[in-house]
Amino acid sequence: MAQNRVLVTGAAGFIGSHLSEALLERGYDVCAIDAFDDFYDRRLKDANLSALSPSPHFSFWEADLSSADIEPFLRDVDTVFHMAARAGVRTSWGEGFEPYVRNNVMGTQRLLEASVRAGVRRVVYASSSSIYGETDEARLPTSEDEPGRPISPYGITKLAGEHLLTAYGLASTLEVVGLRFFTVFGPRQRPDMAFHKFLKAVLDGRPITIYGDGSQTRDFTFVGDIVAGVLAAGERPAGDVDSKMFNLGGGHRVTLKQTLDVISDVTGGTLRLDMQERAAGDVTDTAADTSLARSLLGYVPTTDLKSGLAAQWEWMKEARAAGLL
Ligand code: NAD
Repeated sequence: MAQNRVLVTGAAGFIGSHLSEALLERGYDVCAIDAFDDFYDRRLKDANLSALSPSPHFSFWEADLSSADIEPFLRDVDTVFHMAARAGVRTSWGEGFEPYVRNNVMGTQRLLEASVRAGVRRVVYASSSSIYGETDEARLPTSEDEPGRPISPYGITKLAGEHLLTAYGLASTLEVVGLRFFTVFGPRQRPDMAFHKFLKAVLDGRPITIYGDGSQTRDFTFVGDIVAGVLAAGERPAGDVDSKMFNLGGGHRVTLKQTLDVISDVTGGTLRLDMQERAAGDVTDTAADTSLARSLLGYVPTTDLKSGLAAQWEWMKEARAAGLL
């Protein structure tokens, strides 16, 4: 087993591509898988991969975890960083649910099964704050002890993934670590996510659509901070992380309305708003209690909303200039 050989699933995506870059910088041999799920434009994912592909320490396979023979990709792999999923809350209702089950439940179960057979040491799983569902104001910020009560089909598949992780950890010698990401933003953010849509509307000179009255709050987390937390989950001793779930949040909870002020500041424009009904499955508030991650992962988020949004705005303008947006 090569200690520094890792597998990243979902490597062409928003978080997976940033993580893969950080792993290469730290001297790992990175094997990567992505199915190019049709959730958003493949050209964005190709662009995400373009910085990684030239490295001799990066190998990429287009493969679907829900159907491919995964074991060959795991040869000599020490740690798996499982970032692949069908993401997004709103599209997980109705007919849309099937790919969520296939990618997030079947994909995770097949990856865990293959990881045990291949003798992988550790699997780090990207879970989500959406597993918590609605939390009373009095119980915010949410700690990891809060029970999982998702209110969207997407959240249910992410919680199923956590349960699978725990079950495979108990049934084998596999070390398992779950990380609950809180609304991640920054360059390459998915096109279905609020900041991407807001900034794109500014680029297009269109009004920004707000679902609900804008008083809902989110704990926004810059992608670089998430990556630091994921790396720590891969590298910390088993005694600190094995069989644990950690919240990874940004530490600043703001209302949607407040984010609009920051967006106006960063883009230098006056924003026009289009207020719409709140969407089913969207929770009212999220706020992460990150004390466990701070103490056991050494996790300290460092990028504030304004600098993170400025970085995302720069990326959006570059992507627009390259004809990708
Ligand atoms: P993303 O859609 O940009 O990346 C996910 C990647 O996984 C995509 O490139 C997709 O093609 C790939 N994929 C999907 N199903 C696959 C399969 N069956 N086999 C192989 N590849 C597959 O999403 P993201 O925002 O980078 O999210 C990464 C992870 O973080 C996901 O697990 C998501 O649930 C979790 N997460 C993200 C956020 C966030 O705010 N972005 C918040 C909480 C949790």
